Amino acid sequence: MESKERLLGKTIGDLKQIVSELGMPVYTAKQISDWLYKKKTDSIDEMSNLSILNREKLKTRFVIGSQPPIQKQESQDGTIKYLFRTTSGHFIETVYIPEEDRETLCVSSQIGCKMNCLFCMTGKQGFSGNLTTDEILNQIQSIPENSGLTNIVFMGMGEPLDNTDEVFRALEILTGDYGYAWSPKRITVSTIGIIPGLKRFIEESRCHLAVSIHSPYDDERKALMPVEKTYPIREILDLIRQYDFSHQRRVSFEYIMFNGLNDDLQHAKDLAKLLAGIPCRVNLIKYHAIPDVDLKSSDTAAMPVFRDYLSSKGITCTIRSSRGEDILAACGMLSTKECRIFAGESF
Ligand code: SF4
Repeated sequence: MESKERLLGKTIGDLKQIVSELGMPVYTAKQISDWLYKKKTDSIDEMSNLSILNREKLKTRFVIGSQPPIQKQESQDGTIKYLFRTTSGHFIETVYIPEEDRETLCVSSQIGCKMNCLFCMTGKQGFSGNLTTDEILNQIQSIPENSGLTNIVFMGMGEPLDNTDEVFRALEILTGDYGYAWSPKRITVSTIGIIPGLKRFIEESRCHLAVSIHSPYDDERKALMPVEKTYPIREILDLIRQYDFSHQRRVSFEYIMFNGLNDDLQHAKDLAKLLAGIPCRVNLIKYHAIPDVDLKSSDTAAMPVFRDYLSSKGITCTIRSSRGEDILAACGMLSTKECRIFAGESF
């Protein structure tokens, strides 16, 4: 079984190719995609509108490939963290965040991460590989809450725009009529700003964009996020300015607040100047300390002052409320990722 390919993660183009190779009629590609993404079957045998012969042909080369999570941890506030084992034998986390009016899933795109952001626990793990399209979609398809999900955020482990091929295929299947047919308005991809991937994302996808900014100053951002050396925030913003984010599609900026580092009024003033002319929102995020890193959480008084200044400059600004602290704090791989506190925001 393990040597067989997975059908989960195949686009309609892939499925047409497969059915043609197997000598099946071309319309069976759409039937298979319906079983995979609309009926969410976990067995080829259930594909009852395919002839028995065609099911047998499919089974010679393929399995569905959905894998249930191997562990689940539930927070007092209802947030649930799922642990999945990847085909390469590594582990990834996915976080389900229920709220009154929506249910959000925070998915991972890589095993670990290369980007080495100073404040991030995932970055400390190093990089063990990209997730494949099926491993990305499996996080969505295999949780019990699947049918109630209203939003998906790519804010879990890894940098999604460092794994563009697999992430874009997952987005195609998520939003395609033949796939899950989700509105792109319900999906947000969060990035630290890998410019080539970002350009491709803005041009090829209509999903919302979230950019981690964390400081308006080059040197300070460089110290927090080494990616600034290769892709400076000013170039990222120049790129964003070339596209229209004033209508349905949103761009937001994530700003983790560190005590005494980036949480004073001068930072707020310079951030407002930097973002001038971009219709956007800023999400202020409380930092939660990780071991061996000399960064502290902003005190609670600083955040509203910062928010009010940005609001006075016409920038919509929200302070994210913390979710799932009891399960995501301490040793959780996602402990400093944005999705642990993805709440109180209306994408
Ligand atoms: S914050 Fe994101 S990009 Fe930076 S190390 Fe962590 S996972 Fe990677």
